[in-house]
Amino acid sequence: MIWDELETGLAQLASEGLLRRRRTLDAPCGPEAVIEGQRVIAFCSNDYLGLANHPALIAAAQQAAERWGVGSGASHVVSGHLRPHAELEERLAAFVGQERALYFTTGYMANLAIAPTLVERNDAIFADKLNHASLIDAAQLARAEHIRYPHGDLDHLARRLAQSSARRKLILTDAVFSMDGDLAPLPELFELAERYDAWLVVDDAHGFGVLGPGGRGSLAHFGLPSSPRLILMGTLGKAAGVSGAFVAGDRRVMEWLMQRARPYIFTTASSPIIVATLIASLDLIANGDERRAHLQRLIARLQAGLSDLPQSLLPSPTAIQPLLIGGNDVAMQLAGQLFERGLWVPAIRPPTVPIGSARLRISLSAAHSEAQLDALIKTLREYAVNA
Ligand SMILES: *Cc1c(COP(=O)(O)O)cnc(C)c1O
Repeated sequence: MIWDELETGLAQLASEGLLRRRRTLDAPCGPEAVIEGQRVIAFCSNDYLGLANHPALIAAAQQAAERWGVGSGASHVVSGHLRPHAELEERLAAFVGQERALYFTTGYMANLAIAPTLVERNDAIFADKLNHASLIDAAQLARAEHIRYPHGDLDHLARRLAQSSARRKLILTDAVFSMDGDLAPLPELFELAERYDAWLVVDDAHGFGVLGPGGRGSLAHFGLPSSPRLILMGTLGKAAGVSGAFVAGDRRVMEWLMQRARPYIFTTASSPIIVATLIASLDLIANGDERRAHLQRLIARLQAGLSDLPQSLLPSPTAIQPLLIGGNDVAMQLAGQLFERGLWVPAIRPPTVPIGSARLRISLSAAHSEAQLDALIKTLREYAVNA
């Protein structure tokens, strides 16, 4: 019976230490979390600029509810595209310097919209092996050939592009890899896209708001020009502090997505509260140099504080600072010890990361104080040395 199989499957996950557990938080997203009455310092969220509970955004949400109500009532292409949705799309396009932007309810949906709408049979997708799950799913949903190249291996990618006789080619990459924190070589990838007549789709979930002048993201960080070959995806539930995502680029590509992308058409447009709050969030991001500078100081402080441990931080210039542990059990044990001491750092295990590379994924936020970070450094040093 199928239920027995499921129970066996669950028991198997449990025996491999792979069961996921949700914790219920009794306080808003922030540097401190409250779980079952215990207050802990949290290094888990993607709220890199500390905007998720920002008073200006709470006020924007309240005003939007008064003015626009709480629901959009329909899909964008029926009657759910309210003035705040239109304004947000315009603001996003201008902010990232692209011709047009489309707003999606989540980054997962935005990624499912891009590849399956732009490529089909006889086309090919070239994807970095460490890409986010949503890009992998998108490539599977598209009926094109799916070629995965070793992480950051430009030579391998160039060879595969050169060999390909696909009609349309699409290179898919995270800009900041979500479990490693490192940056994709975007200028080189863009050059390959030009040389082999491909599109380059950049998922900037972890770069938007954090990297580049004014927090404009990874393309701005590398100074890449806008180009019909570039398609930018950014999420708005991480540094932007709310939820949703956008795809931006050439106006013809955007119009095609609007006409054809099923995850845009067959879903209810987000609540106007969320959208209006995001407009306010864009202002905070644009004026967020101080937050970004503080975040950079925290990153440097963490790296200096852990530099002589037996375990090393993966080389990451971003707010994602993974401490490589290796075995699942050791990673779990360390995370457990930290939690008992009031420090919440998630252990990331296979299949999310390759076998043997379990890690503590420390994510920093501009909302953290140096004292909070120092508590983590000090306790981590105590336990990690003997782990
Ligand atoms: C979080 C994330 C997504 C998904 O975005 P959501 O808005 O959370 O659905 C997509 N790509 C990457 C790289 C991410 O980290």
